[in-house]
Amino acid sequence: RFITLEGGEGAGKSTQVRDLAAALRAHGLEVVETREPGGSDGAEAIRALLLTGAADRWSPRAEALLFAAARADHIEKTIRPALDRGAWVLSDRFLDSSRAYQGMGELSDADILALHDVGSGGFLPDRTFILTLPEAEAEARANVRDGGEADRIGGRDRAFHQRVAQAFTRFAAEDPVRIRPIDASGDPAQVTARLLEAIRDLLA
Ligand code: C5P
Repeated sequence: RFITLEGGEGAGKSTQVRDLAAALRAHGLEVVETREPGGSDGAEAIRALLLTGAADRWSPRAEALLFAAARADHIEKTIRPALDRGAWVLSDRFLDSSRAYQGMGELSDADILALHDVGSGGFLPDRTFILTLPEAEAEARANVRDGGEADRIGGRDRAFHQRVAQAFTRFAAEDPVRIRPIDASGDPAQVTARLLEAIRDLLA
């Protein structure tokens, strides 16, 4: 099974990937924890290109292509081989982050999905969870983590983050079978319990 966690910064995605993986291992499953951008040797090299240099180093189109290229490598080198041997794969961000971040400016959602078709044959997770937090809580958590630093990619403000959150909410409404919102408030163990409940049918 391939599960992805999505959401804005500060929602607790990386903590939940780690804790959900531990819970699934306790069920006797092999679990691969991964993240985007990155998750394979080539994709990590592309990640370094995306996260270094000036914020405007890449044009929006070039940036979207780099994300799609990284994802193609991540799928081919890490995700598919793991799924083929029966492991579960948990990824901190995946395609829906590109739809939310790269697909709402110069490029449309349809453009991002087209790039994904070319790069990865439209490969989709079995289930995607959008970790959702009230805006004030998300901001407080992100500030604690980053020391209030501005985002690395692009010059981003509060309105940008609101648009990202709205995009994720829209994706969940459009594809409620794959994409489900999960309340990310409370302590991490409570959120992990919500996630486990939401994948119970996949564990059966
Ligand atoms: O929250 P996380 O550490 O995963 O995000 C890393 C950075 O990469 C964030 O600034 C996030 O907004 C950005 N990002 C992006 N497009 C993606 C994935 C992540 O702009 N497809």
